[in-house]
Amino acid sequence: MKYDAENVFAKIIRDEAPAHRVYEDDSTLAFMDIMPQVDGHTLVIPKCPAVDIFDVPAEMLTRTIAVTQRVAVAVRSAFSADGVMVAQLSGAAAGQTVFHLHFHVLPRHAGIDFRLHAKDVAPEAVLAEHAERIRQALPAD
Ligand code: 5GP
Repeated sequence: MKYDAENVFAKIIRDEAPAHRVYEDDSTLAFMDIMPQVDGHTLVIPKCPAVDIFDVPAEMLTRTIAVTQRVAVAVRSAFSADGVMVAQLSGAAAGQTVFHLHFHVLPRHAGIDFRLHAKDVAPEAVLAEHAERIRQALPAD
């Protein structure tokens, strides 16, 4: 699949679409998933145009997964999680719905299931509060 520069994550990178950002540097961006499957569901993306795991230079993937680890540390702390699920879907057949490479970071609590994928939009105020909690919990560089 050819990369579509008008996909919603590309617009978020360019600040043409809103998002509750939790972390940003020259090459990566992390923000709240608008339809969280659990409270604290965060997405981490490279800023380079990459459709999926098959379409990203290894160096960019390395940087993105390093940021994913930092975000996972913050999410675990901010939501007192028992565990953290990191997921990456490549290709429609795998369930991918936004065709800009991203890693899902979901805090998980024992015995609590996650909600349906990309279904219910969370209130802005809730996403803002969760983003602030994660920003506060980010480890130092
Ligand atoms: P995928 O299905 O591609 O693995 O995941 C795409 C994710 O992006 C879903 O979890 C969905 O809730 C989220 N999402 C879809 N549109 C938007 C949006 O406009 N803003 C944000 N922040 N997340 C989105």
